[in-house]
Amino acid sequence: MTTNYSICLLPGDGIGPEIIAEGRKVLDAVGAKHGLSFTYSEALLGGCAIDATGTALPDETLAAAQASDAVLLAAVGGPKWDTTDPAKPRPEQGLLGIRKALGLYANLRPVRIFKALADASALKPEVIDGVDMLIVRELTGGLYFGRRERFYDEEGCGAGGAAGQRAYDTLEYSEYEIERIVRHAFDTARKRSCRVHSIDKANVLESSRLWREVAHRVAADYPDVEIVDMLVDNAAMQLINNPAQFDVAVTENMFGDILSDEASMLAGSLGMLASASLGDGVALYEPSHGSAPDIAGKGIANPLAQILSVEMMLRYSFDKSEAADDIARAVEAVLDEGWRTGDIKQVETPADKLIGTVQMGDLVVSHL
Ligand code: NAD
Repeated sequence: MTTNYSICLLPGDGIGPEIIAEGRKVLDAVGAKHGLSFTYSEALLGGCAIDATGTALPDETLAAAQASDAVLLAAVGGPKWDTTDPAKPRPEQGLLGIRKALGLYANLRPVRIFKALADASALKPEVIDGVDMLIVRELTGGLYFGRRERFYDEEGCGAGGAAGQRAYDTLEYSEYEIERIVRHAFDTARKRSCRVHSIDKANVLESSRLWREVAHRVAADYPDVEIVDMLVDNAAMQLINNPAQFDVAVTENMFGDILSDEASMLAGSLGMLASASLGDGVALYEPSHGSAPDIAGKGIANPLAQILSVEMMLRYSFDKSEAADDIARAVEAVLDEGWRTGDIKQVETPADKLIGTVQMGDLVVSHL
């Protein structure tokens, strides 16, 4: 029996339409093999939505996303819509708006090294050998959403007495917010190597001490999963020194933002990194990179981050790990054969064969 899922496609701007077409192609092909079929709706988000409707997140787009089983997004933005005028709409408002409206509090960013691309990493091959980690970042709380203010301080109290501007941001978490993201990390770890690094700054921050307490309370429900506490400054160092020690790493919003960008460089190219944003309802899958306006329309963008986002969709939204594994294996096989888009082609490896976006999608399909 064929199981059908409805997918909301959000191609967005720049290279978005080119790479999402390859993601869809791979999804259909892997579905045909595993008895899954997909019905697609396509909606506007970002710059293209501003052009058509005047807003980056039209109501119809949100409705289409909410009515689907999963959302596949490519990327939004571009110089055409860049503005510092707060009265004008910006493409990123669509991105933040849809994450918020769908309640996507967990951002999952896997960092895995494809052996064939080891030379593309900023680190030595022996350091990144065996790296396969997942950063679970809290996405809707913490410093980025806390109370903040900027004001003129007549007194200059506590700062040497001089009057001037002052500003503050607050890092606030409730037990509920911590518990749901940590639980998410532990549930995910059970599908991987059963180890969770809980990253905080409990030697200084009260919010981190609460984080650590709650993390251990949750851990007690998962006796089969190991918990390792790590201070964020040490984690930043360990990511470079010994990245292979990590499996699942869970952390608050800002720590996760910074550490996941650091970790992305282990893999060598932005064009390889997928991500999933999950909540309690419909989830959203997207590459970690942007809309790459500099190469849009040229047919040379790397579609693999988008294709690996499809892999995550099968794994996390539909629990179809065999189909997801097939995609991962196919991508690996294509890379092992030396096929490369421009961003991952090494000048010093003449055996690498340069191909375009569509060819890369076709090759992944042919290896499924
Ligand atoms: P970018 O990620 O779009 O591009 C950075 C560099 O990486 C560029 O040289 C680009 O050509 C290259 N690149 C990115 N993805 C690639 C791919 N799949 N294949 C080959 N090369 C690739 O970042 P940017 O240039 O800083 O931003 C461009 C636009 O994207 C901006 O408007 C920005 O706001 C937006 N953006 C969107 C998202 C998103 O939609 N999630 C994320 C980041 C940036």
